[in-house]
Amino acid sequence: MMIRHKGVEHNVFGDAPFVATRISAIGCSHRCPGCHHESLNESAEVYHESVADIINSVLSNPFDEGIVMGGLEWTEQPEEMMCLISEAKKAGLKVMLYTHWDKDDFIDMFGEPSGMYIKHGEFVAGDIPHKQYGVQLANRGQYIIFYEGGNTNGNDNPCEGEDDSKITCSCAY
Ligand code: SF4
Repeated sequence: MMIRHKGVEHNVFGDAPFVATRISAIGCSHRCPGCHHESLNESAEVYHESVADIINSVLSNPFDEGIVMGGLEWTEQPEEMMCLISEAKKAGLKVMLYTHWDKDDFIDMFGEPSGMYIKHGEFVAGDIPHKQYGVQLANRGQYIIFYEGGNTNGNDNPCEGEDDSKITCSCAY
């Protein structure tokens, strides 16, 4: 599957409980006041890369242990999001997703995740920051959950679940 993104950055410390490749989504319609990604959101440059090329670039980096899907909102590209998560997990990489959606809304839309971290919650500029899993969060409404079990049918791949995810993925990896 081809993935549209706005940049891949290796050796990122502090965005996740592991050293990561950060992959930015192509946009976010949420428009939080004070968003740090406004210029990225405005930028028209979008890259198209196969999921295999992205995963291989992470695997070939000696420091990266996984991926962080942050910087704009991957839930607005749901099939690409699910495919990237699935293939990263299959390759043995750690995964962390950033989203403004809270836990319940996210699970309603995408099913119960498994074996990955999600940073939930809206950005509120000027609020009190805090830390979870060694990751600095901008405000108390943001929180990180590590989803251990997840998918109700025990299938670790959200692309292949029968009804544990409302998104189908056409990965050709
Ligand atoms: S959800 Fe995140 S990327 Fe989107 S506007 Fe808010 S802070 Fe920016």
